[in-house]
Amino acid sequence: MLSLCRQLIFVNPQKIHLRCIGSVVPVLNLKDYPLVNEPILSYRKGSKENSDLKNTLDEMARDCEEIPLIIGGKEITTEIVKYQVMPHNHQHKIAKYYYATPDLIRQAINVAVKTQREWEKVSFEKRLDIWWKAAELMATKYRQQLNAATMLGQGKTAIQAEIDSAAELVDFFKMNVYFVTEALKYKPISTNPKETLNSMRYRGMDGFVAAVSPFNFTAIGGNLSYTPALMGNSVLWKPSDTAILSNWWIYKICREAGVPEGVVNFVPAHGPDFGDTITASPYLSGINFTGSVPTYNRLWTQVGNNVNNYRNYPKLIGECGGKNFHFIHPTADVQSVVNSTIRSAFEYNGQKCSACSRMYVPESLWSKIKAGLLEIRNQLKMGDPRDFSVFLGAVIDGAAFKRISSYIKHAKNCSDLEIIGGGGYDDSRGYFVEPTIVQTKNPKDKMMTEEIFGPVLTLYVYKDSNLDETMKLVDSSTPYALTGAIFSQDDKWASRALEEFRYAAGNFYINDKSTGSVVGQQPFGGSRLSGTNDKAGGPHYALRWASPQSIKETFVHIREHDYEYMRS
Ligand code: NAD
Repeated sequence: MLSLCRQLIFVNPQKIHLRCIGSVVPVLNLKDYPLVNEPILSYRKGSKENSDLKNTLDEMARDCEEIPLIIGGKEITTEIVKYQVMPHNHQHKIAKYYYATPDLIRQAINVAVKTQREWEKVSFEKRLDIWWKAAELMATKYRQQLNAATMLGQGKTAIQAEIDSAAELVDFFKMNVYFVTEALKYKPISTNPKETLNSMRYRGMDGFVAAVSPFNFTAIGGNLSYTPALMGNSVLWKPSDTAILSNWWIYKICREAGVPEGVVNFVPAHGPDFGDTITASPYLSGINFTGSVPTYNRLWTQVGNNVNNYRNYPKLIGECGGKNFHFIHPTADVQSVVNSTIRSAFEYNGQKCSACSRMYVPESLWSKIKAGLLEIRNQLKMGDPRDFSVFLGAVIDGAAFKRISSYIKHAKNCSDLEIIGGGGYDDSRGYFVEPTIVQTKNPKDKMMTEEIFGPVLTLYVYKDSNLDETMKLVDSSTPYALTGAIFSQDDKWASRALEEFRYAAGNFYINDKSTGSVVGQQPFGGSRLSGTNDKAGGPHYALRWASPQSIKETFVHIREHDYEYMRS
């Protein structure tokens, strides 16, 4: 593969020894990959995808799949046995899996460190092909397995699963192939390439990368673990306990596509065991994390405490929580506000990091917006996502149920707060929390400032004359800055809000809901406590997982050590 062009052209043996332009750095033969989003299927009654998905759901629900740890391609089980259950029916087990012990995590680190050196020698052309093939398998042969596992295990409805475990997952794989291909075309400046040629190659990072993923997006699990792998790293992937089945399907599909053993090691574990073990290893080269602020802060602190022990400074990418807003201007279109807010606050039970959970409404529009929100809220059907008429399922687990219901209890007990819709919860069969709307007189109450991560929307009605003062609350009342939306038909005000809310959201929407970012269209992430804003789904993300090497190759022998002006 080396394009060696090593003839020496002796123009004058004493002066210039020129080789014809060429380089020892491999020249890549890159394909043209298209940049298109995966279409989202409709699942209309009578469609093929509707019956395929229902059949797959029935089949998967009958089974309790056994999921081993995979280290260097070897299947391993341990004595720490766990089960994944359906959130809407917590007696129904759908997967049996095992926790890795700290010893096994260390074993996985050793395998990953060894594998990394071999893996990064595999050409980019080959790696990109494997990733593309995996995406094709996800989009076709295994689309409904991914969707069914996401619906049964993580409680998503058909459309929410399709958006996540089909479209977004495929997009992450395919668009990273596209973005990496484009990045590889970059050539550093070579002012006189006949004498000196500059090039750059993207190496993997020496050591191993730990990918720690959340429960709420199947696609995020795939992106966190496989994007570093695409760049020549070996990875320990610790999936979330409550997303284990869908994540296991991703792992199996990638193996079928040709990702060699040991490149991504599938290591379910008790979170703190995993975090403590990886941060103690001198070979840690990066952590790719998505989840809550407390978990990320703990990992960051451990890395800081161990900083003198590492061979490299580990790269830390963390995408965390949000307290996302809808800010309504008096000129807003009421119907857009109502529909967008219902979707953003209650789809997938408000368990999207981008879900709207605080809203600022002008008094002049309040009666219409209130009527609209309550009318739709009262029609929302909650239940088993296998019933295609439900709008939302149950929240993910007992801990989430307890946390969310404690906020509802707070709303019931506090005189500043009034529950105007919903407020019920019941975990006797599944972890069900009604879509709940709370009105507050205090815009700084914890319902307006803390991440609840459930189907609870709190809103503050402001006097139209207090517009400017209310705008100040958006940026100042929470430590988060993930997503936010303004609704206005006054362009002048919208431009002002865009400036005023400059640092209040990494993903900003004008007359649209705060959720629903699409890979390649709205790269995602926020700053402040919402994370490092590395923009998954954007052109720079994959490059964060490379360790570039700059190479200068000179074809003329160096005959002088001094400079012309020094000579008499
Ligand atoms: P979580 O922090 O509870 O768990 C995330 C992952 O960390 C899980 O795999 C968990 O097992 C693991 N973990 C727990 N303790 C650990 C430790 N000490 N060391 C290492 N790993 C540990 O979060 P979650 O409940 O799965 O996800 C919900 C959170 O994720 C919300 O705060 C949400 O806003 C956030 N989120 C953010 C984004 C984003 O892009 N900004 C996307 C999705 C979710």
